[in-house]
Amino acid sequence: MTARPDDMDDLARLSARIGADPLLIQAAGGNTSVKDGQVMWIKASGTLLAEAETRDIFVACDLPAMRDSLQKGEDRADRPMEFALAQDGLRPSIETSLHAVFPQRVVLHAHCIHTLVHAVQADPVAAIGTKLGGFDWGIVPYAKPGADLAMLVRDEVEKGRDVIILGNHGVIVAADTVAAADDLLHRVSAALRMDAVPLQAATLGDLPAGWMVGPASLSHVAGDPALLSMATGGSLYPDHVIFCGVGALACDMPPEGDSPPFVLIPGKGAAMRADATSGAWALARCLGDVLTRVPEGAALNYLTLAQNGALLDWDAEKYRQALNG
Ligand SMILES: [Zn+2]
Repeated sequence: MTARPDDMDDLARLSARIGADPLLIQAAGGNTSVKDGQVMWIKASGTLLAEAETRDIFVACDLPAMRDSLQKGEDRADRPMEFALAQDGLRPSIETSLHAVFPQRVVLHAHCIHTLVHAVQADPVAAIGTKLGGFDWGIVPYAKPGADLAMLVRDEVEKGRDVIILGNHGVIVAADTVAAADDLLHRVSAALRMDAVPLQAATLGDLPAGWMVGPASLSHVAGDPALLSMATGGSLYPDHVIFCGVGALACDMPPEGDSPPFVLIPGKGAAMRADATSGAWALARCLGDVLTRVPEGAALNYLTLAQNGALLDWDAEKYRQALNG
């Protein structure tokens, strides 16, 4: 049994706090880690940061072995379970390699709504403008979470950057203490803060059996033609694809039989399947929370067909979804 670092409890407390904030983390998304010499403790795949204080969500990984594997470009760099120090059932996060490339001890990765509002735009650098002027920040284009993304992030880390915006994905911050990482994430999120437009209530009336009114922000999107067309343009970030499927479907009536977890009823609101998972609810709300903050007329960048496909056909993600079933 690997001994835990002294600040593990502090990290658990911080993880639970950010995990409970839907503007930072949705469902099983995001992850946190702390390095202790040769060992990196990281959130296990499929677990919830929000549960960090009530269950053991961290697994110990062999940090030098993971870094070495990434450096060599080995396939196994994308199989983080091979670097777990205990084979006790929990697998290290799919995004373990993203954390390993930072020299700092504490790394926080969040799917921050305020960050996403910028990171889903066609020109995220222009959208961010001077807002992050006080930070050592960098940005990487979208890549599938895992080793490919980690190598892009590593190039930024080598320039001394400790705030990395991930295109169509989120943000990573790194610091040597839990308190400093907490502060950094908080300040980045505040610097990128975008307020949502005032929400219009859904007017869905009676829904067919098996359907219920969806999240308020997503209902607003369905009621606003410009936002509705943004929503139906495609997928904006990976967890949407994982939990809600590709893009969003607009239709005048919820379909019978097979359908995605939510549909957008133009002019009326978002309808959610009554059997939708908590993950699907969280990501449905996320889409509404992002789009109700996007500046009017902004051009968005959608995941390509191949990028959507790569997310759906991914063993590691199937495992994460099964845990969240
Ligand atoms: Zn992520």
